[in-house]
Amino acid sequence: IREQWQRMIDQPSVTADGHSYKIAANIGSSVDIPAVIENGADGVGLFRTEFLYMKSDHLPTEEEQFIAYRRAVEQLNGKRLVVRTLDIGGDKPLSFMPLPKEMNPFLGYRAIRIALDRPEMFRTQLRALLRASEYGKISIMFPMITTLEELQKAKQIYYEEQAKLAVNHPQIGQDIRLGMMIEVPLAALNADRLASEVEFFSIGTNDLIQYCFAADRGNDAVSYLYQPLNPTFLKLIKHIIDAGHAHNTIVAMCGEMAGDRYALPLLIGMGLDVYSMSAGSILRTRSMMRKLDRRKCEQLYQKAIATCDSMTAVKELVQKWLLKN
Ligand code: PEP
Ligand code: MG
Repeated sequence: IREQWQRMIDQPSVTADGHSYKIAANIGSSVDIPAVIENGADGVGLFRTEFLYMKSDHLPTEEEQFIAYRRAVEQLNGKRLVVRTLDIGGDKPLSFMPLPKEMNPFLGYRAIRIALDRPEMFRTQLRALLRASEYGKISIMFPMITTLEELQKAKQIYYEEQAKLAVNHPQIGQDIRLGMMIEVPLAALNADRLASEVEFFSIGTNDLIQYCFAADRGNDAVSYLYQPLNPTFLKLIKHIIDAGHAHNTIVAMCGEMAGDRYALPLLIGMGLDVYSMSAGSILRTRSMMRKLDRRKCEQLYQKAIATCDSMTAVKELVQKWLLKN
C-alpha cells in the first residue's frame, strides 16, 4: 500500500471522472516544508504562525517574520503558501505577552480579537507577509472571524499597510489572495455575505465542531461530540461551500476533517475545492480521490442527508458505499 501511495507523489489531485482539486499541507513552521514536498502536496493550506511567536522570547520583529515567511514560500517553488495571521489566546499562551486568565479561554480573548485590539502587532505581521509575497505565491487568512465588521476592520488594516509599502514598491501585494477561516458558527451562517468580501474561505472544522456542538475540543469526557459526519453538521458545511461558490470564492478546509477518509467522498460530493491536512495524509488522500467519481459522491451526500439521522448512520452508509466504489 505504501508503495502505491508513493507513486501518487507527482500525480494530479483529480477524481476518476476528471474533476481537479488541491490537496495541501498544514504546517507549523518552515522546518516542516521538506515533508510537504516529500509528500507531493499541491501547496501549504495552513501555516499556523503562532509557533513563530510561541517559541520566541520576544515579539518577533518584522524582519524576523519576513525571513521566516520568505524562506517558507521560496522552498515551495511556485506552490501557494496560505498563511494564517496570529491565532493565540485560547489554549495558546505567549511568554512575552501575558494575557489575563479566563474562565472560558476558547470563548475569550483570542486570534483576530487580539489582533484588532492590538493592531500594532497585527500590522507588523501583515507588513512582513506583504514583503515576503514578492518571493512566491502567498495567501493571507484571518482566524476566528465572527462578524462582518471584524473582517472589514482586518481588511482595512491590511490595505493600509499595503498602501504604505506601495509608495516604494507599487506592485506589492498585487498577487496576494485574502481569505478568512470559517470556524465560528455565526460566520458559517453568514457565509453568503462574507463570501463577497474574500477570495477564499478555509473551514476550520476543529473549532467549528467545538463551537457547534458546545464541546471543548480537548476534553475527553465530551469527545463523543466530536462529530464531523453528523448530518446536521454536514448541511452546514454544504451551506458554506454553496455560499462561497455563489460568489466565486474558493472554499478550502484545513481542520482534521479534511484528511478523514470517511469524510472525503462526502466533501467531494459537496464540492469542496481545497483539502489541507497533515503532510502524512496527503498521498493516501490523493490515492483515494483518484478512484472516486464526483457524480457518485454527490449522490452519496444526497443520500446521507436524506436518510441518516446520526453520525453513526452516516459512517455506516459511507463504509458500505466505499466497499462498492
Ligand atoms: C481549526 O480550528 O480547524 C483549525 C484548523 O485551526 P486550529 O486547529 O489551529 O485551531
Ligand atoms: Mg482553529
